[in-house]
Amino acid sequence: MTPSLAKLTFVALVIGWYVIRFEHARRSRHALIGHNARDLRENVLLLISLSGLGILPLLYVGTAVPRFADYMFRSAQGWFGVLLAIAALFLFQMTHRALGQNWSVTLQLRQNHKLITSGIYRNIRHPMYTAFWLWAIAQACLLPNWFAGFAGLVGFGSLFFGRVGREEQMMLDTFGDDYRHYMSQTYRIIPLIY
Ligand code: SAH
Repeated sequence: MTPSLAKLTFVALVIGWYVIRFEHARRSRHALIGHNARDLRENVLLLISLSGLGILPLLYVGTAVPRFADYMFRSAQGWFGVLLAIAALFLFQMTHRALGQNWSVTLQLRQNHKLITSGIYRNIRHPMYTAFWLWAIAQACLLPNWFAGFAGLVGFGSLFFGRVGREEQMMLDTFGDDYRHYMSQTYRIIPLIY
C-alpha cells in the first residue's frame, strides 16, 4: 500500500458516501418535517463535522497542505484504513435503508415519524454515527498527516457529543416510553461497550 493509494481510497470513501446519501436524500425530500430542533448550535456543529470529515482532508489530498504535519506512512495502517472505509460504507447504506423517510441530516422529525428498532437498529441506537466514527478512524489511517488525518475524529466527535444527548431527548419527548424501553435494550454506538 502506497500513500497515494491510501489517499485515493479516502476520496473513494467520500464519493461512495455522497452517492449513497444523495440517493436517500432525494427519496426523503418529500417527507414533510413535523418537528424541527435545528438551531445555531446544531448548524455550527454540522459545519465543524463537514470540515473535519470532508473539507480539510480533501484539501490535504489535493494540495498536501499542511506539509509540516506529515509523518511517515506505514502500509499496514493503509490496509486497516481500507477495511474500515469499506465497513463504514456498508453500515452507512444499511442505516439509510433502515431509516428510509425517517432520516434527516439534522435534529428533525418527519410527520408520521416511525421509530425504527429492528435490523441494524436492534442493538445499537446510533449505527449511522457508528459509521461516521469508522469513517473518522479510516481517515486517520489513510492520511499520514497529523492535522488532516485526525481532523475527522475531532470534527465528528464534536458533532456526536454535542448532538447525541439532544437527539435522544427529542426522541424521548416524541416517543416517550417506547424510546425509554428501546434505550434500555440498546447501546449507543458499540454493542456491549457504549
Ligand atoms: N442517530 C441515528 C440517526 C441519524 S439521522 C443513527 O446514528 O443511526 C438523525 C435523525 O434520525 C434524527 O433527527 C431522528 O429524527 C432520526 N432517528 C434517530 N434514531 C431513530 C430511530 N431509532 N428511528 C427513527 N428515526 C430515528
